[in-house]
Amino acid sequence: MKIGERPFRAKQLLRWIHQFGAADFAVMSDLTKSLREKLSTIAVIELPRIIADHVAEDGTRKWLLSVGAENGIETVFIPEASRGTLCVSSQVGCALACTFCATGKQGFNRNLTVAEIIGQLWIANKTLATVNDGDLVQVNKSVTNVVMMGMGEPLANFENVVTALDLMLDDHAYGLSRRRVTVSTSGLVPAMDRLRERCPVALAVSLHAPNDVLRDQLVPINKKYPLKELLAACQRYLPAAPRDFITFEYVMLNGVNDKITHARELVKLVQDIPCKFNLIPFNAFSNSGFTRSTSEAVRNFRDVLMQAGFVTTIRKTRGDDIAAACGQLAGQVKDKSKRTARSMIEAAQ
Ligand code: SAH
Ligand code: SF4
Repeated sequence: MKIGERPFRAKQLLRWIHQFGAADFAVMSDLTKSLREKLSTIAVIELPRIIADHVAEDGTRKWLLSVGAENGIETVFIPEASRGTLCVSSQVGCALACTFCATGKQGFNRNLTVAEIIGQLWIANKTLATVNDGDLVQVNKSVTNVVMMGMGEPLANFENVVTALDLMLDDHAYGLSRRRVTVSTSGLVPAMDRLRERCPVALAVSLHAPNDVLRDQLVPINKKYPLKELLAACQRYLPAAPRDFITFEYVMLNGVNDKITHARELVKLVQDIPCKFNLIPFNAFSNSGFTRSTSEAVRNFRDVLMQAGFVTTIRKTRGDDIAAACGQLAGQVKDKSKRTARSMIEAAQ
């Protein structure tokens, strides 16, 4: 929308909202009075409302945010010694229905707006700055990294996610480097190509299986974009990526995808792709039907990948006492989809 103001006014406005956390045009003292009045008649600064705010024993913090109509989303902050990572949601629920994922089990309601996505960062920065920890040790309180790994498939909400990413990267807003912002996708191939062209941030791909037969069962979108196409999209992404590798996420499901034979098959599958692996011990939720791989199975799996030359980390499970760990985010979703994955995917193309 054009309102006939000079470009530097937009920068001032971005700084007020995103850097100083202003939620009211009236406090923006370096804007003219007439501009402040004009803005308050044509726009509102509206933030998701905090319904619950929990801090886990390890310092991980989870907010449940209302986005109206009895829908809630979750945002998780993970403090570490050298960084603070915010895990941001992109949709209310998810239509892609991966069988091991609490969000996927809930169904889908709607895409989040740009304001609802960037509002999660706004709220985290603002509340972390004023936190009263009591006895908790939070080494790093500010958000230095963002991962789009909360509820939803970010690339199925492409335009809103990309606009929010632009704000994360904008020096007048959050000023994060592209290396510190990661989009995680279950593999929407055409949207991966569009992300490369529009906003090539770091990319994580949820692989979870070394062959199509198994991946079809765990990640149903694989039937539409099988491994060969997915890996080709990863190759195309690499020249534009801010890091010279793709991160493959692999959830470790006891007896399902965690055998040594799977690890060997995986090595062959990705041998031509510069990549790192992040093994995620499965986080349980009720009626999931899966159990977590044993520590021994995870270590043996990792060893096969490492011996083949792939850097492999085992993700520490953070915040599981407040159901804030990967795949446990459930928020509140009024499912409207009845599994309309196909229409979602078509919309994402
Ligand atoms: N939709 C995107 C991003 C959100 S999920 C995607 O699928 O990549 C973030 C990560 O958590 C994904 O790798 C996902 O597969 C993983 N995940 C989902 N459910 C999980 C569970 N129950 N335990 C551990 N990891 C899980
Ligand atoms: Fe959606 Fe990701 Fe969960 Fe699959 S793992 S259902 S894509 S949020």
